[in-house]
Amino acid sequence: MTTTPESTPAPQTTAAKLVYLFGGGSADGSAEMRNLLGGKGAGLAEMTNIGIPVPPGFTITTEVCTAFYENDRRYPAGLDEQVREGVRFVEGLLERRFGDPARPLLFSVRSGARVSMPGMMDTVLNLGLNDAVAEGLARETGDERFAYDSYRRFVAMYGDVVLGLKGEDKGVDPFEAILEAKKRALGVEQDTQLPPKALKELVVEFKYEIWKRRQVRFPEDPWEQLWGAIGAVFGSWENPRAVTYRRLYDIPNNWGTAVSVQAMVFGNLGEDCATGVGFTRDPATGEKRFYGEYLVNAQGEDVVAGIRTPQPVTKEAKGDGQVSLEEAMPQAFAELTQVYQTLERHYRDIQDIEFTIQKGRLWLLQTRAGKRTARAMIKVAVDLADEGLIAREEAIMRVEPDKLDELLHPTFDSKATREVIATGLPASPGAAVGKVVFSADEAVARAEAGEKVVLVRVETSPEDVHGMSVAAGILTARGGMTSHAAVVARGMGRCCVAGCGALQIDYASGCFTVSTEGREVVVGEGDTISIDGSTGEVMLGAVPVVDSTLDENFATLMGWVDQARRLRVRTNADTPQDAALARQFGAEGIGLCRTEHMFFEPDRILAVREMILAGDEAGRRRALAKILPMQRSDFEGIFRAMEGLPVTIRLLDPPLHEFLPKTPAEIEEVARELGVAAEVVAQHNEALAEFNPMLGHRGCRLGVTYPEIYETQVRAIIEAACNLSREGVRVLPEIMIPIVGMEEEFVRMRQLTEDTAAQVMAETGVRVDYTVGTMIELPRACMVADEIARHAEFFSFGTNDLTQTTYGISRDDSAHFMPDYIAKGVIEGDPFVKLDQEGVGELMRIAVGKGRSVRPGLKIGICGEHGGEPTSVEFCHREGLDYVSASPYRVPIARVAAAQAALRDRVAEGVVAQ
Ligand code: ADP
Ligand code: MG
Ligand code: MG
Repeated sequence: MTTTPESTPAPQTTAAKLVYLFGGGSADGSAEMRNLLGGKGAGLAEMTNIGIPVPPGFTITTEVCTAFYENDRRYPAGLDEQVREGVRFVEGLLERRFGDPARPLLFSVRSGARVSMPGMMDTVLNLGLNDAVAEGLARETGDERFAYDSYRRFVAMYGDVVLGLKGEDKGVDPFEAILEAKKRALGVEQDTQLPPKALKELVVEFKYEIWKRRQVRFPEDPWEQLWGAIGAVFGSWENPRAVTYRRLYDIPNNWGTAVSVQAMVFGNLGEDCATGVGFTRDPATGEKRFYGEYLVNAQGEDVVAGIRTPQPVTKEAKGDGQVSLEEAMPQAFAELTQVYQTLERHYRDIQDIEFTIQKGRLWLLQTRAGKRTARAMIKVAVDLADEGLIAREEAIMRVEPDKLDELLHPTFDSKATREVIATGLPASPGAAVGKVVFSADEAVARAEAGEKVVLVRVETSPEDVHGMSVAAGILTARGGMTSHAAVVARGMGRCCVAGCGALQIDYASGCFTVSTEGREVVVGEGDTISIDGSTGEVMLGAVPVVDSTLDENFATLMGWVDQARRLRVRTNADTPQDAALARQFGAEGIGLCRTEHMFFEPDRILAVREMILAGDEAGRRRALAKILPMQRSDFEGIFRAMEGLPVTIRLLDPPLHEFLPKTPAEIEEVARELGVAAEVVAQHNEALAEFNPMLGHRGCRLGVTYPEIYETQVRAIIEAACNLSREGVRVLPEIMIPIVGMEEEFVRMRQLTEDTAAQVMAETGVRVDYTVGTMIELPRACMVADEIARHAEFFSFGTNDLTQTTYGISRDDSAHFMPDYIAKGVIEGDPFVKLDQEGVGELMRIAVGKGRSVRPGLKIGICGEHGGEPTSVEFCHREGLDYVSASPYRVPIARVAAAQAALRDRVAEGVVAQ
């Protein structure tokens, strides 16, 4: 009897191609079809096409998955027949038959979306085995142990993956427990030591376990097994893990997954068999050397799961007591070397490959672009360009701008003393200091409370990803450089030390123990440790960190980047320190220097409060006179740090009550220092309170009502400029007026600025050039941009406020509903993170057009948070802005994003090849 899926004809019957074959030297699909075949399916097809040995099989498309969900979980018509054809195709190539004990054909069933998704279903191996087929397999191979080892693995995988038993008992695999009991009963340590009889018993016990837990019989019919596994893959697209992963990584729900069904090859058929994984270059450093791990006589995911500790593939990487594949199977190693080099040349990128060796013969099971650290990303891009495999333009396009963050952040101070208690594998570089937590949920809870945590696990699995994403670092006791923890951490740019075998982790009592130099160290939950992802060291306490040093490859690449881009990149910086840091990162000036932060400095907040609380102009001026010299020295510091580059200084922006004391104790203190009654201060506070401060008495509105405030600031700026100019320091001040919505506001503020500047220059006898411009952050300012531009020398879009005022959504309150909006799909993403190109962007377009219509050379930039966000930077490039301004650490990101935007333009114009 064969079982067919419940396929009712779909509404429109089409002869659509639902299944793509690969094998026998050619494939229906290719690398370009990854959207349809998933990354894995497209890779298998492409490898087949370029003559790499791949076991034959077929891929069911992602469109089937989409149709399945759109059509009440029914398969499209014709799938049944096309799957049957796929099976016949493989049978024909291999001269074996699915379900035939005489010449059995076994399959693996594998999931694969467009992008690799650890939240998806695990692979099912050895599908097609039942009692009769297992017996046949034993006869055919003459290896009973192999046949029943494969069989018991299959039954367990089917139960775990297809029937969902995995992790049912709080993460304890029920089959694992039975296996362990069996080993104990027989007094053996390794799975491989179990005799055939024991393995046969395990098969029976596993099947009984399935019946006990699910009241279903393990399906003996291979076709029922096949449809069960296919259905489980499609079903897994909607499992909570996958849904979370998609949300975390912005993957659309309607992409769907493909299913690849592939003939099995066996890495567990004896000592001349193996299975392994590898990277064509070192994924941590980018160095050009193969990086891989393998296990002899093993199957499937044994390497990744960390059940046995894998051995290095190359002799070069081997440690004491290890045997490399290069030495153990020189023939297969030579073949592997050829294959990986072919793959790298073909894909022109690092490949992450999975392979199996059956009786000395190499088979490739997967290839994909290797996840790598930021450092490796840069090195590989530069190296591939130098090797002539890619053009420099493509090297630039290969950089993921956001990932640069990782490179720029600090490392441990090499001079600090480190109390090293253990060393694991340097799986993902970086320096992490944090409190130890033992579960992903605890990591999330503490991170939300603002604590830095290091997640410590025996091994991680996809269930831990949410905890990994909030942790400063990840530490595991088991697993290699290609274990789940290592791969995911590198992808996220998280620091990770993996396979630290000295750690004895006790989840129950919430601690881990290590023996070091003859003593036992116990580290409990909440204790602080430091981990170094570049050396693998685990240290007690908080080791001090220092800023990173950028290497030669980074400098080379950024040189190419700077040649390619048109947009200038400035920084948002309020202090000389930030300005200097940003300059190191390539900032070409300051796009936004906020003056209010300076007002909060402890040595001047009192004078600021005095100014605000003064009853009249004379009182305000007295207080402002105290602030003036301090502001002047602030500006001198910043001008010096930015010597020769433009510095845009924004005059006071926030409403005044932000500076006032809040608590009764603070109020009393201020009253005492100012020599007034506490009631006076409290009354003033109340008088200044606003219902809606974001739309209240702020920005140039303060300048209009209290001109002396802006006058003082302008005076401080120009005096600082004159002083430095006299010293021979070149300064380029740009004075920026915030919250302008009306031409008249700007006209007045400009007049005030010019009068004050003229006066200062007359006093000092020094002339400095400066410009006066405005923030564009109100919709009205965009609509009357031509009127404003008649008087303004530059515009700078304040996209934080412009987003607030365009949407009418207060940034400080959006957290109450924005997550819901995103979850429900009302809005695609947070417009405060990625610029809303449709709405806010349209206003910007209007402002650019109107502004330049009256002043063609009008300099225009952006200084909101968006200035460092790659898609927003691209928008700014397209709309013809002159510069973007980003926080110091995001300056390199903005430079790369600007270059990529320019290159995309040139590709579109056909100037450079894709
Ligand atoms: P993942 O997406 O988690 O990497 P895969 O589908 O690649 O899952 O399968 C995991 C492992 O299972 C592979 O690395 C390989 O070792 C093994 N495997 C998959 N298909 C086959 C096959 N046809 N023959 C032998 N081993 C296989
Ligand atoms: Mg794989
Ligand atoms: Mg603003």
